[in-house]
Amino acid sequence: MLKLIPLPAFEDNYIWVLHDAHRAVAVDPGDPAPLAAFLDAHGLALAALLITHHHRDHTGGNSWLRQRYGCAVYASHNAAIPAVTHRLHGGNSVNILELDLHLEVLATPGHTLDHISYVGHGCLFCGDTVFGCGCGKLFEGSPAMMAASLDAILALPDTTRVCCAHEYTLSNIDFAKTLDGDNPALLERERTDRDLRAHGQPTLPSTLALEKATNPFLRFHSPDMTAFAARYLNRRNPDPAEVFGAIRGAKDAWDG
Ligand code: ZN
Ligand code: FE
Repeated sequence: MLKLIPLPAFEDNYIWVLHDAHRAVAVDPGDPAPLAAFLDAHGLALAALLITHHHRDHTGGNSWLRQRYGCAVYASHNAAIPAVTHRLHGGNSVNILELDLHLEVLATPGHTLDHISYVGHGCLFCGDTVFGCGCGKLFEGSPAMMAASLDAILALPDTTRVCCAHEYTLSNIDFAKTLDGDNPALLERERTDRDLRAHGQPTLPSTLALEKATNPFLRFHSPDMTAFAARYLNRRNPDPAEVFGAIRGAKDAWDG
């Protein structure tokens, strides 16, 4: 059984590591230092990096780690991502034979156009697509594009462990309460996650079941969020992509 570990990096990033007694894979090591320290402390070889998108806080470690460990580097076709050895599209799979690890690649554009996510071992490595109780900003994609990406994620099993690249959960819960303050699952999550953060623990991974129950950005098909969007857009019967866009717009305004 592989172990799943979130390594804190920068202010609020997580580098996700899956490892056995000998080898590891890591997702989005924007800063190579915490990953190298972890690998060295546990005597682990680095088999591969899995990169979700081109932002520097996800790719900054690629060149140094590839040089030091000779690891494979998986990423999308965006040439801006450095040191890539294997280029991926949605629908491809990644097989890390040394770890007996098999992952499927989901195209999840929206935050960026090149964003991909990795699914396997009961985990979703979703980079900046889904956050705890939130989702990534639309820097490059449209609301319809992100809604389609989130639909692909919603089709995964409820037990999937959601491994996000940032610890934004508490502030996302603050926003979610402005839309959905009567949702008992959200209020329960707030108690649990505030307690975790008070003890210096990550709120992640969450589960897809928990995100479906509490994350407004995954609830854009729900009557509650559709009613919110109709008020926000001052228009009847918004379609699901418009509902998603309204929630994203409200969050961007709330962020200021
Ligand atoms: Zn990003
Ligand atoms: Fe990021």
